[in-house]
Amino acid sequence: MSTHETRRLDPCCVFPADGKTATTDLFELKPVADGVYAAIAAPQYKVNSNAAVILTNDGVIVVDSHSKPSAARALFQEIRGVTRQPVRKLINTHFHWDHWQGNEVYAAESSNLEIIASERTRHNLTTPDVGVGGIPYIETQLAALPKEIAQLQDDIVRASNPEQKARLEVNLQQAEAFFEELKSLKPALPTRTVASAVTLNEHGRELQLLVLGRAHTDGDLFIYLPKEKVMASGDALIDWMPFLNDGYPEDWVQTLQALDHFDFTHIIPGHGEVVPKAHLSFFRGYLTDLIAGVKQAAAAGASLAEMQKKLADDLAPQYEQGMSKYPLGRYRDRVGGNIEMVYKKVVQKS
Ligand SMILES: [Zn+2]
Ligand SMILES: [Zn+2]
Repeated sequence: MSTHETRRLDPCCVFPADGKTATTDLFELKPVADGVYAAIAAPQYKVNSNAAVILTNDGVIVVDSHSKPSAARALFQEIRGVTRQPVRKLINTHFHWDHWQGNEVYAAESSNLEIIASERTRHNLTTPDVGVGGIPYIETQLAALPKEIAQLQDDIVRASNPEQKARLEVNLQQAEAFFEELKSLKPALPTRTVASAVTLNEHGRELQLLVLGRAHTDGDLFIYLPKEKVMASGDALIDWMPFLNDGYPEDWVQTLQALDHFDFTHIIPGHGEVVPKAHLSFFRGYLTDLIAGVKQAAAAGASLAEMQKKLADDLAPQYEQGMSKYPLGRYRDRVGGNIEMVYKKVVQKS
């Protein structure tokens, strides 16, 4: 299977090699509240995170910067369409590659840009082997890309029909361009870190930066606008299946419980569309049931392979549809990996 190698390397956000991806219009800027936008990422071979764009009376605040400078530049142009104010602050929700590798674009645009992240995220960005992101992970991606590109070229030769071939060619171009961009990446790191909750009063806009505990990573930051009742949640709460490899399943449920205590109506997730607060219960319910199911199956002596089959089917009626809205991060793509991760992290505690 063509994507086997990249799946192993990067199980977070691998687009199918012949998936239909966007070549233009990388983001749709959707109003969520007055002066608050969700920049919803179109499907791209090298996945981009969403961003939140928050206007103030003196400048713009952006949450997350995607997987590459060209994507951040594309969003920056769209922001220019709604305001001429400079971007003053950029916030990274966590250290994963698809949320911060465009930071340099905003740093180049404004000389006194503040880049904010949690203390833990700043640590993760500079420490090897912490997961799928950070400066050391750029080398990992650079090392893997030539093989990935060769595989795509191979897949094009073997393509069974013209449509598939055309899609593969678009994605090959994107992979090659991504490789070139990565080679000249100038990583811009957080200039300010937060260890616990802080409130920022930003020219008519109140923002709370919330550190609520471990979840998708050990440094997830939530960005809360109490007046507008909007929560930007990074990947700790998304409209795809969760990615657990760098996560803490049991803590995650607790952290989402803490998040539930805040008063908000709209969630700008790291991936997928803007969702109502009710999505929090659905997403947390999946994690809760997944953990309970794995524990129960393990106690009954089931092997990992057995629980991957049975539990995936048992949870499907409740979760498959709601977790399969987009071409990426769908229930059946991820449930096996999720079960394995919970088994390792919760049962084996490795
Ligand atoms: Zn992500
Ligand atoms: Zn992530």
